[in-house]
Amino acid sequence: MRPPSRFPALVTRLPKPEVEERPLAQPRSIGGIHIDPVPPTNLTGKPLARTIPVHRPPGAIDEFQFLAGCTRCGDCITACPYNAIVQAPDRLGAVAGTPVIDADTSACLMCEDFPCIASCEPGVLVDTIPPIMGTARITEHLCLAHHSTTCTVCSERCPVDDAIAVTDGKPVIKEDTCTGCGVCRYVCPAPENAILLMPAFSRPGLPNA
Ligand code: SF4
Ligand code: SF4
Repeated sequence: MRPPSRFPALVTRLPKPEVEERPLAQPRSIGGIHIDPVPPTNLTGKPLARTIPVHRPPGAIDEFQFLAGCTRCGDCITACPYNAIVQAPDRLGAVAGTPVIDADTSACLMCEDFPCIASCEPGVLVDTIPPIMGTARITEHLCLAHHSTTCTVCSERCPVDDAIAVTDGKPVIKEDTCTGCGVCRYVCPAPENAILLMPAFSRPGLPNA
């Protein structure tokens, strides 16, 4: 037992209240309309929010599996003959140090043998899924070909067969063929880049990973 203090206690500690388990909400019906209960917030399991979409090299698996398996060794960065892969900057938090494509600096040229994938020891870049990194879109009001200027640079340089068609002198990106390699963005000569490059929002995962 503690000896009595000379000074009065500044804080009175109350016993912890018993927390009552709240029953799960039941579906309700209001005016004949069925309303499902809002599920409780999941604070313990796998995070429900996706990580920020980043432009990964070809063959990158599901982002959660990728972040868990990538050792940040940089082997894919070294293996890329076109310096298309860089380390994500520190400001990207959990993503920092992982490999990303920065098409403004150097785009992926879709090597036939994918040395980046071959170099990946932990197997988070794989050749068993399509090498889709994202997709490109043309911002028409910025595109020279949409302003009576002859320009076919993006369709000429695109390394993927049939990903950019030219109709009436204007480029049209076929989103189901485009791999999001970023070459069109890299070569676009418009004063303000007319190619918007969007990373893939979800990628296939590996079973049992
Ligand atoms: S496919 Fe080739 S150019 Fe593209 S990231 Fe891999 S190594 Fe680099
Ligand atoms: S359209 Fe652009 S991003 Fe898509 S494959 Fe061709 S060059 Fe790459």
